[in-house]
Amino acid sequence: MSIPPKLHQQLRLLIRANHILHHHGLVDAFGHISVRHPLNKEQYIIAAYDPGAPALVKNASDFISYWVKDSSPVDPEAPQGYSERYIHGEILRKFPGANSVVHSHSDVVIPFTLGDVNVRPVFHMAGFLGNSGASVFHINDTYERLQERYPPDILIKSQALGTALASHLSDKQPVVLQHKHGFTTFGKDIEEAVYRAIYTQMNCKLLAQAMMLAGGGLKSTSYLTSAEIEACAVMNAKTQDKSFRLWLREVQVNRLYRNEEGEPEKGKVAGMKI
Ligand SMILES: [Zn+2]
Repeated sequence: MSIPPKLHQQLRLLIRANHILHHHGLVDAFGHISVRHPLNKEQYIIAAYDPGAPALVKNASDFISYWVKDSSPVDPEAPQGYSERYIHGEILRKFPGANSVVHSHSDVVIPFTLGDVNVRPVFHMAGFLGNSGASVFHINDTYERLQERYPPDILIKSQALGTALASHLSDKQPVVLQHKHGFTTFGKDIEEAVYRAIYTQMNCKLLAQAMMLAGGGLKSTSYLTSAEIEACAVMNAKTQDKSFRLWLREVQVNRLYRNEEGEPEKGKVAGMKI
């Protein structure tokens, strides 16, 4: 069966985005990225539980379509999916302009979910983090409030928990840290969601190094100012095409990553025109 061109382009991007997130250490066997269905906004597409890891997805049959309204599978006979898919469904349901969600257990970011260090932007590529920085979601409190019937395995595996997580996000605050778990971000497209995920991780790495240099504290650590954050967020949006072209090439030449659907069409070259 032939795949409509618009859908095929998104599937090709989604396969490569899975590979890119792995290449950058944002996902291992766990973690995921979704995309809203380009031909039906009420659905989203995400990898199935098998083939087992983002690095191993390679063709359209490795993915499942779900309804945005409740994260139930479009095909009732669909294979096993990720229990954490409610993260994606509820963010796509809350933000009509969002078309891709990334969820990561980055070992660089998790330490920042444990204490009280605010993850605000410390370099120009992370202006998108916004003035308030990343928000923090504490699932323990939410379990009690929602009287969840699941064992407390710290996974977002119900619609109510997904809604609670999504409530910590906004267009001005597109990254949420998940206490003792990882983080989630979203974007208007796959490229923006991947960009925000990679540079959230890099921001945390730089922040940790700056704090170490400062003797473990934040006293000698500078965050971006409000004006810098605003200007850098605009720059980030205009230059993400450049990063994505490099990241795409890195996974194309690495033999671990297979793609049987063909490569995504080249996007427009954007950049800062001055
Ligand atoms: Zn997770």
